[in-house]
Amino acid sequence: MSEYAFFEATRIFKRAVPLMVKYKVPTTPHYFSLWYTYCAGTHPELNQAVDATVAKFGICSREKCDSLIESFLIGDSKKELDNFRQKVETLVADLGNSMDATVSDTEEFQDILSSSVTKLENVQHKASSGADNQQVIHELLQGSQHLLSATSQYRLQVTTQKAEIDTLKKKLEEYKNQATNDALTGCLNRRAFDQQMADYNTQNVEVSVIIADIDHFKVFNDEYGHQMGDSVLKLVASKLEYSMKDYGLVYRFGGEEFAALVPSVSFTNAWSIAEKARATLERLSVTDKKSGKKINSITASFGVASRHAGEDMEELLSRADEALYDAKGRGRNCVMPKAR
Ligand code: GH3
Ligand code: MG
Ligand code: MG
Repeated sequence: MSEYAFFEATRIFKRAVPLMVKYKVPTTPHYFSLWYTYCAGTHPELNQAVDATVAKFGICSREKCDSLIESFLIGDSKKELDNFRQKVETLVADLGNSMDATVSDTEEFQDILSSSVTKLENVQHKASSGADNQQVIHELLQGSQHLLSATSQYRLQVTTQKAEIDTLKKKLEEYKNQATNDALTGCLNRRAFDQQMADYNTQNVEVSVIIADIDHFKVFNDEYGHQMGDSVLKLVASKLEYSMKDYGLVYRFGGEEFAALVPSVSFTNAWSIAEKARATLERLSVTDKKSGKKINSITASFGVASRHAGEDMEELLSRADEALYDAKGRGRNCVMPKAR
């Protein structure tokens, strides 16, 4: 957890617990999740409902807390997932039904076709009358028309269902994205980082870790405000992603710290990739909307470490961390490597 996230969580914790005591809510983790969310202020509708309850009753009963958790916390994502699952089920069932119908129409037509073929063979052997021939043609025509209408209906249905499948696929992509991407910067998150490290470990890839930490970001926030800080984080993330686009992926490691995983390059190359990224950030310039002042002082310090054959990923990461620490100690805005 970054220092900032830790600070925020502590601040919320300090507010949530006294409120739970005040409104006679059992201080169990289950109910704490509700009051934590209330104090974080991320669900305005939940806050309105809680405020209305305590204004009316002076307390927030266990039952009320349960129903608030159900409606605002578990409810949303559960309902959305249920809805999603139901849509997929309906779609699969619809597709199955229309396929069944078409298969049965095709089978019917096959019967007509095979009986017509027998009759036509009779025609060929002059064993049938003119009326028989008319009848065969009539049956063939009817069967063909029926199959034509059935297949065009099927095509129409499949086209509509294809559009629905595309929408669902997009939604699924969003869900997957939420699990692996950071909400503020859009970068991959720590979870994705851990997963990738585990994969590299299994595949025994010689990967380099580059850690970048924005310099004096606390001071920056104090001076220009959190919102401006957030914008800089987004900008830094996108610049880092651009710098790394040919080499590897960038992750928001937490707070104002990013990491890049660069597979299959030499230690020296990883070092120079980090140096290029550092130089890109150094050139960043943003304008403070409030004062109109240009800010050219955004820099970051970098630590680089490359994996030795069979090296434990934790060790690799702590070497990169030590390197970053060295970079901070050397006055910041520089890249420090850490060989074994
Ligand atoms: P150093 O050069 O030693 O890294 O100094 P620093 O100030 O960057 O480091 P420190 O760890 O003391 O402070 C990190 C700051 O990053 C504190 C916090 O306000 C800020 N920060 C972390 N996450 C966010 C965020 O999501 N948004 C904003 N605006 N600021 C954040
Ligand atoms: Mg920092
Ligand atoms: Mg930091």
